[in-house]
Formats: sequence, structure tokens, C-alpha cells
Amino acid sequence: MDAPLPPRGRYLIRDAYVITLDAERGDLPHGDVLVEDGEIVAVGEGLSSPGSEVLDGTGRILAPGLVDTHTHLWNGLLRGVIEQEPGRTYFEVKRRVARHYAPEESYVAARLGLADALMSGTTTVCDWDHNARSPEDVDAKLRAHRDSGMRTRYAYGNPDNHPRDEVMDLADVARVQREWLGTRDDGRLSLCVAVRGPARTERDILSAEWAFARDRGLPITLHLGGRRDDAARYADLMQMHRDGLLGPDVQVVHAVDVTDEEIAMLAATGTSVCLSPLTEYEGMGIPRITELLDAGVLVSLSVDTLAAPLSASLLAVMGTALTIERGRPRGKAMTARRMLELATIDGARDLGLDHLIGTITPGKRADLILVNRADLNMVPCADPLPVLVLCAQPANVDTVLVDGRVLKRNGVLTAVDPNELAAAATRALAAVLDRADWHQFALPALAEADA
Ligand SMILES: [Zn+2]
Repeated sequence: MDAPLPPRGRYLIRDAYVITLDAERGDLPHGDVLVEDGEIVAVGEGLSSPGSEVLDGTGRILAPGLVDTHTHLWNGLLRGVIEQEPGRTYFEVKRRVARHYAPEESYVAARLGLADALMSGTTTVCDWDHNARSPEDVDAKLRAHRDSGMRTRYAYGNPDNHPRDEVMDLADVARVQREWLGTRDDGRLSLCVAVRGPARTERDILSAEWAFARDRGLPITLHLGGRRDDAARYADLMQMHRDGLLGPDVQVVHAVDVTDEEIAMLAATGTSVCLSPLTEYEGMGIPRITELLDAGVLVSLSVDTLAAPLSASLLAVMGTALTIERGRPRGKAMTARRMLELATIDGARDLGLDHLIGTITPGKRADLILVNRADLNMVPCADPLPVLVLCAQPANVDTVLVDGRVLKRNGVLTAVDPNELAAAATRALAAVLDRADWHQFALPALAEADA
């Protein structure tokens, strides 16, 4: 399934329509970007660099790589299992299969989700793991992150259905921080703690988990939990604020059903909000994006789960979320540029990576995407930015660099064989379903991978 990661080359991307998202640089209709050893070293027009490999930007948009701030990668195998039928809703499926994942299946699921994200121009993914089954399972996922070549954050959580009165495996979170960060990875991995929060665990457990994370300087993320009327799952934000649980080190996922008072508090405390519009529309409501942004809350975008089923495309998230936001009275003036910022620089801020990625700026790492603007679904492309946000498909994403490595070139992934990965994912789901004694699905027979 694996190909070795390509080397970090010396690239001159020439004559692209460059959307830098850097306030000082703006858009360059005929821009060049020079990349050396994983770093953006120059942005301008008419650059020359003898000896660099030229990547032709003619007819292409060059933009910062997209940042997905919350996806449960282990869910990737479940694409097609979920449906609105008894026994097949998301939470029923999750409960039935989660405990049957062995590390091999967790590895393949993570590779699948990361490769699918890469296809559509996502270069950074936060893997929000609410099925961290064992140290071996966690290591398998982190190997998948490393082998993918992508930039990742691992949000270390609990195994599915962990008892409310038991603390998470904090010793193993500490082990991962010690053993992986800066050593087993090459600077592309970061770590945070994925807690259950007050709706799903006891107060003393929650206090221990919060204190651990803050002692070690690890950011915290939690799910707010769907709709306010779902009391068993919904965390009370104002009570969390009174308890000192919020702040700039905390990301709240799915803050959909928020009041004006809560929005003001999130802004005042610097707590960030991660939205997954495509799954939120299905069961939680329509997020108040404009109200959050107008109040000054940091908002980022995410895919959440491929199980929905969804593709891992943040292009789809941006386009749909912008369309629906403009259908709300408060949101009708939202621009495509603001939506693209949520999926790039604001996502980078949310993950604490904005010093490294999120804009095309000399000194930052080279996480870049080249998108064909001459394809039929993109032309005539008078103003490339709204066309990118509202029309682009994964197939338009021609080239993707992560940390200066070309991981997609001419539309083809370079560090993984897609056919072998598809076959491995299908076999992995078959193994999980078999252990769960679930024999309802006729999975396609895909070619066996070479041993
Ligand atoms: Zn989630």
C-alpha cells in the first residue's frame, strides 16, 4: 500500500493565480512561489531559481492547503454502513462496531481518511479519536499519520463507551507526548486531549483530565453535543465558564445551538469553535457562523465523519456552508474569502499552527494546493476565489504539497497506492463486521494488495 514519502525538493511554482491570504501580499494574478527544503522562501512575480524543478502554475490557482480541525478518522471504514434505519443510525453503529477494531483496522481507517482528504486539497487534519482502544491502537494511528506525509494533530480521547466514572488513559497521553512529538515524527504531528466534558463524565474525572492537560500545556477539545434539548449529551457552556473550564486552550466542537450570551462569552474567553456544517445540518441545526464571527469568535471548519456518509472534502464543506449561510438573514453578506479563511488560516490558528501554515508567506512551511481553473466546472473563472470556494471539486486539485513534499501530482497521489488502499479498507471493514457478527452487507470484491 505504501510508497516511500517523496523527498522535500526545491520547487519553483511559476505563473499561478496566487491567493496568499497574507494581508500584506494579497492575490497575485501571475505569481511565483519558491519552496526549498519544505519552506516557502519567496513569493513574488518573475522569480528565477536555477536548478529548481518548475511546477507549472499556468491556468491554476495556488492557495494555502486546507485545514480540517476535527475528523474521527477511525470512522472512515464505516462509509456506507450508516443509514436512517433501525440499527444503522450513527450512534447505534458506533456502539456496535467500535470495540471490534484491532490496530490494523485503525491504521487502514486513518490512511483512508487522510488520503481522501489529501485528494481534495486538505493538508492538515486533526484526528479526533473517540475510540482510542489501547497504546498499540494509538501507535497504529500515529504510524498512519506519519506514513501519510500529511500534517496532523492527534486528539487523544477515550475508547468508545468508556465508563463515566473512569478517567481516560492519561499515562498513555503522557507517553505519546514524550515518545512521539519531535522524535518519531518529523515535526508534522501535534497533540491535544479530547475530553468528554461535563455532559458525559463525572465532575472529579473531568477535573483530573482538565488539570492534566493544562499542566502539560496540551490544548483541550470537546464536543458540545448536538441540540440543546438533548440534555443527556449537551454541555452547559455558561456553567463550564463559571467552572473555569474554557479559554484560548479549549476548542468546542459543534457550538451550533448557541445563544447570544454564550457567543459573547466564547469571544471574551478566547474559546474557539469548530464547526462541521455537513453533519450539523443532518442532526443539530444550522450553525450561526456570521454571529460567531461578528462577535470575534475563532471559527474553524471540519468534516467530522466519513461514516455519515461523506467524502473528506473541505471544498464541499466550504461551498455548502457558504450557500446555506447566505440563506440566513444574518449571513447573506458572507464572502467566499471569509469562508476560505475559516478553512485555512483560522483552522491553523485553532490548531496553534498559524506560525507554520495557513497563508502563503515566506518563512512558513510549504503546505500548498494547485487547483485547475481551466476545467469546465471552473471556467471562465473571472475571479478565482469565489469559483474555488463554490465550484471546485477534488478532481480539480492537481497538485498538493505538504511540508514541501509533493503528495499529489497531476491528480495522482504519490505516497500511497489508491487501489491497494481501497482494497485494504474493504478488507478491514469486513474484518470488523465479522467480529461484530454483522453480515448484512455485500462488500465489493477488490483486488488483493501485494504482500
Ligand atoms: Zn465529532
